Amino acid sequence: MNRFIEFQAQVEAIKARCANGEITEAERDNILRQTQLKDETWGDIWLLSPKEQWFRKANGSTIWVRDYPIALVEPTTLPPISEMDARQIARAVYDCTRCSLCAERKRAVPGEGPVPTDIMLIGEGPGSHEDQQARPFVGASGKLLEELLGNIGYKRHDVFIANVIKCRPPGNRDPLPDELAACKDYLDRQIELIAPKVIVTLGRFSMARYFPGASISKIHGQPKRIGDRLMVPMFHPAAALRNPNWRPFLIEDFKRLPDLIKEAASFHQETITDAAQLNLF
Ligand code: SF4
Repeated sequence: MNRFIEFQAQVEAIKARCANGEITEAERDNILRQTQLKDETWGDIWLLSPKEQWFRKANGSTIWVRDYPIALVEPTTLPPISEMDARQIARAVYDCTRCSLCAERKRAVPGEGPVPTDIMLIGEGPGSHEDQQARPFVGASGKLLEELLGNIGYKRHDVFIANVIKCRPPGNRDPLPDELAACKDYLDRQIELIAPKVIVTLGRFSMARYFPGASISKIHGQPKRIGDRLMVPMFHPAAALRNPNWRPFLIEDFKRLPDLIKEAASFHQETITDAAQLNLF
């Protein structure tokens, strides 16, 4: 039997003891915190909260992150990408062989965060830490990203973080056009599901989706409206770590995000009003 299903049953039994009055809620929560499942393949540790939310501590990390075990998504019933939900996308990405990057990756990195949510950050591709932990933006770039979000009152788990390419290019080389094309459908579907008000592009390859041919040093921080959404190009945190002169630009560009979210929310309102005037609602 799937070990995650067994684990779910174990958690249900503990919750039932609480519901029957055998243990208090505090005791239940304490037991559940200590009831952990080790993923033998990757060395990750999993927890299931009383509210049925899964958390994963990646091998080599000390941080618990909201996640969902792909072992619980049935691979044989996956619909076309354009009809997948977020969990099905993660499942498909983990097993994906649409381009040659699948040959050398350790783990694919589908992206993480709430669905839907206001801000989506799109970087380039996984590096070596990401490839090991199956998480985007870990290591020094991830720390800087968390600091930038903290400056505007956001936590990492408030935003969705993804990359244009889900598997690590060998030696961290740039992704090739056919690899970007093969991976594009996953990101397009994620954007549809997440429905962010603001998309922040971090680095050249995600910027090229919305600002083809532009130079980041000229356009960083300048939003462009597409539909009822704002696209904001920014320096990649890794670039700002390599070149400290760019760091203040990145800090200032992030500080504008709360106002940009409000601005984009007003576009959404306009769309609803327009539709209402056309008697579509
Ligand atoms: S990079 Fe994208 S398209 Fe290529 S194997 Fe990974 S998930 Fe599939």
